[in-house]
Amino acid sequence: MTPGPRREMTESFPADSPLVARVRPSPNHGERRRPARPDCLILHYTGMPTFDGALDLLCDPRSEVSSHYAIGEQGEIVQLAPEARRAWHAGVGVWKGERDLNSASIGIEIANAGHEGGLPEFPRRQIDAVIALCRDIAARHAIAPARILAHSDIAPARKRDPGERFPWDALAAAGVGLWVPPAPLEGEALFGLGHEGPHVRALQAMLGLYGYGVEMTGVFDRPTEVTLAAFQRHFRPARVDGAPDASTLKTLRALIAAETGSP
Ligand SMILES: [Zn+2]
Repeated sequence: MTPGPRREMTESFPADSPLVARVRPSPNHGERRRPARPDCLILHYTGMPTFDGALDLLCDPRSEVSSHYAIGEQGEIVQLAPEARRAWHAGVGVWKGERDLNSASIGIEIANAGHEGGLPEFPRRQIDAVIALCRDIAARHAIAPARILAHSDIAPARKRDPGERFPWDALAAAGVGLWVPPAPLEGEALFGLGHEGPHVRALQAMLGLYGYGVEMTGVFDRPTEVTLAAFQRHFRPARVDGAPDASTLKTLRALIAAETGSP
């Protein structure tokens, strides 16, 4: 027998979803630790000028980053790592107490130049592809709507993606993710940095209840402020300033009620 060709690190694999246009294997993944099956979806923007540049980075062994999927501006879905594997997209973060979010999730990178590139709008074709892929993955893995997350939700101090222009409302209208109509903007911040007391504790408890990794200090400190900004970026994008205003608190309460009331 003649020996076969040497196994490449970046061996190709069958696509997990019929929506995949092509597989471009990245070497940047490992074994999932726990849970064995992913139970959340994390959405990102690439934050790079071109989709091809982003794919190159996600497949470069030196970058040590990857995701399971990447979606181009025209809606092309590329799979980079098998869903069974642990791709490297989440980094340091926490959601509902889970800290190994790479093991717990499937990651989708969405081509967009991001905040540094002027936060361009996401084309409708691209969003349609995001919706279709999220629905497919959520159905196959029984991922709850409230567990379809922004990278900024799990790492508020480090990440802003996919950003406040990402149309979570359009996703929710198509049955993807949990979202409630944001309460109208009104009034100023109810308290400021350094404020201490039961209102602050209640706010931290609500953020933590929904899933954010906030410490119950009882003080409106900088980490609580950036976490509140992450909440606004996802759920009350009209103003993302980390200020605890009435609209933000009402929206947060409504969201928690919606999650509790959902099956
Ligand atoms: Zn990200």
